[in-house]
Amino acid sequence: MNIEVTRGPGLRTHLPYETMKAVVVEEYGAPLKIKEVPKPVAGLGEVIVKTIAAGLCHTDIHAAHGDWPVKPKLPLIPGHEGIGIVESLGQGVTNLQVGDRVAVPWLGYACGECEYCNTGWETLCEKQLNTGYFMDGSYAEYVRAYARMVVKVPDGVDSFEAAPLTCAGVTTYKAVKMSGARPSDLVAVFGVGGLGHLALQYARIAGASVAAVDLYGDKLELARELGADYTINAGWKDPIGEIKKLGGADTAIVLAVSPQACEQAYKSLRRGGTLVLVGSPADNFMQLPIFETVLNGIKIVGSIVGTRTDLAEVFELHAAGKTKVIYEKRKIETVNEDYAAVEMGLVKARLVYEF
Ligand code: ZN
Ligand code: ZN
Repeated sequence: MNIEVTRGPGLRTHLPYETMKAVVVEEYGAPLKIKEVPKPVAGLGEVIVKTIAAGLCHTDIHAAHGDWPVKPKLPLIPGHEGIGIVESLGQGVTNLQVGDRVAVPWLGYACGECEYCNTGWETLCEKQLNTGYFMDGSYAEYVRAYARMVVKVPDGVDSFEAAPLTCAGVTTYKAVKMSGARPSDLVAVFGVGGLGHLALQYARIAGASVAAVDLYGDKLELARELGADYTINAGWKDPIGEIKKLGGADTAIVLAVSPQACEQAYKSLRRGGTLVLVGSPADNFMQLPIFETVLNGIKIVGSIVGTRTDLAEVFELHAAGKTKVIYEKRKIETVNEDYAAVEMGLVKARLVYEF
């Protein structure tokens, strides 16, 4: 039984219902619409969160386009970097109170009972449901979430900074964790935007040196400001040669949504190195030479978001002043222009919607 299939605007509400403003994807590839839709009501184990801030993640664009092999539900309210205040509690909620400030992350539901869930791998739960993909997300005045899946935002973490940390932060934090990066390692970060600007900070916190690779000068400038030791403009320099000159990367983390970047990252590794794939291009395949992978003992790792505990750690690091989040505020009325700007690489780091 999968009760989530019946989720969506308009269900489980009582007429005459309250409404809310939301961004809605009605058709893959069509412009997003801003509409009044029924305000959700909290069911068993759920909460309603009044949105303060909602970050724009590249995944939201892939969702709206229906780019990936697994398609999101339609109609869909996107957004999985939502921060807000718990406004009401459904039956049986004991871990939260009205007024708590929480993050509503990508991992909207995990079963809590399977082998993955019980070994620290809830992000791999086969019964998981994802916010802003299979469940309505935070591009709305209110969002419904499972109480046990949201993460409290500590005092001292700004809501607009917490939003990008809820996906971009936890995703790159986990990628660095998965890479096993250590002091004296060289970590190459391919793609500096919303995720990359955080990835390089986590690699630095792990003690590694960082080489940041991007096609845009202003993003590389940002990478330098945030502590990257080396910056390489892949538009006019060969990143493989440049990183090899530094001895090759112990770890290359690919956040750029391009198979070419994945291949360059692979080739920039030193022997025994680890390639961590995070960005998921619409074009799903990369060339991977088997002989060199074997000969050089290369490890290839896929890393998807992070657990609730990872996110709590990300907030802890930020509250301690160890990370900087670069973002610009937007109103949801500009969502279609914003999607276009992100796709063209014109946005320095993260866009965050203000409600
Ligand atoms: Zn995301
Ligand atoms: Zn599970």
